Amino acid sequence: MDHLFELAKMAAVSGEMDRADRYVEIARRMGMRYNVPLRSYQKRRVCKRCYSYLHPGVSCRVRLKDGMVITLCKTCKTINRFVYDQR
Ligand SMILES: [Zn+2]
Repeated sequence: MDHLFELAKMAAVSGEMDRADRYVEIARRMGMRYNVPLRSYQKRRVCKRCYSYLHPGVSCRVRLKDGMVITLCKTCKTINRFVYDQR
């Protein structure tokens, strides 16, 4: 799972978003098959609606507000919110 996200990240960095999305899909399928949920840092890398890989500045826009990370998916225009200020 970690390895697949690493591959997705590398694909996204080199501009191959199609491949990054594929790696995410494989990771999700494996998670469902073996009943392993995505880790928190992995969840915030994936759009909750279209499941595309969120690469800041490329496939999503990231803003910080009130202790939340707000990402706007450029593929489906969905706003994903993640709490990062967990005290
Ligand atoms: Zn999306």
